[in-house]
Amino acid sequence: MATNLVEIRRELSLANRIVANEGVIDAFGHVSMRHPDNPNRYLLSRSRAPELVEPGDFIEYDLESQPIREPSVSQYSERVIHGEIYKARPEVNSVCHHHCPAFMPLLATGTDYVPIFHLGAVGGIKPPYWDQHDEFGDTNMLVCKPEEGASLARALGSHWMVLMNRHGVTVAGTSVKDCVFRCVYSARNADYQVRALTIGDRIASLSIGETEMAGNIVVQTTGLTRSWEYWSMRVAKSGGAVAAEAKPAKTRATAAKKKPVVKAKKKSAARRK
Ligand SMILES: [Zn+2]
Repeated sequence: MATNLVEIRRELSLANRIVANEGVIDAFGHVSMRHPDNPNRYLLSRSRAPELVEPGDFIEYDLESQPIREPSVSQYSERVIHGEIYKARPEVNSVCHHHCPAFMPLLATGTDYVPIFHLGAVGGIKPPYWDQHDEFGDTNMLVCKPEEGASLARALGSHWMVLMNRHGVTVAGTSVKDCVFRCVYSARNADYQVRALTIGDRIASLSIGETEMAGNIVVQTTGLTRSWEYWSMRVAKSGGAVAAEAKPAKTRATAAKKKPVVKAKKKSAARRK
């Protein structure tokens, strides 16, 4: 069956908008997916804030993070994160790199992430840390060179999330929705964990067994579908729904033409009283 690339691009642009709308990403960070028809390629937006990403923004890359066709637009400098993880982990089909504020207190202190509620299990139990300085010394802190991306992918190992000291987080998933689910709920967990640490240093973590079982909620229940529908609704309510054809200006102009009919009716109703 032929892959519907139009629908795939729409889903990936929605994924970028969801992680932005849920406070995981701001102007920086990105969500990619492995190409559904060619495992040696992946799709990643041109360089722009994820909340604005449209289906037409995606660039196709090989696993060396080189564009298949030289684009006329600027590209994300940290795209090697995606390429090197796809290269190292055949079962990973989506990657998100972010600098979520909820994680920053952990990343600044090197504090382990621990799942403190069932949905936080999707981040794993004590996911690995990676510090760019350990292997590369002083850098501008961006993961731009293939060897830096490969080092990060090695640190990720078989986990689903790697914490990057003094920088951010990289999350992997078996699908775009799986990756977004892990991003949103690990960020919730980090927020709760940091807040819990302000009132006590005894954090009640899930056990290893509980983490494994609760982490399977993504693939074994309707939780993923339910969450995706909820997050999509929130994006639409915020006015950020992905357009079938990117014509936002026309849409706004149409909305502006509406006449204030309701106001006139209210006036006449008041006169009758
Ligand atoms: Zn980064």
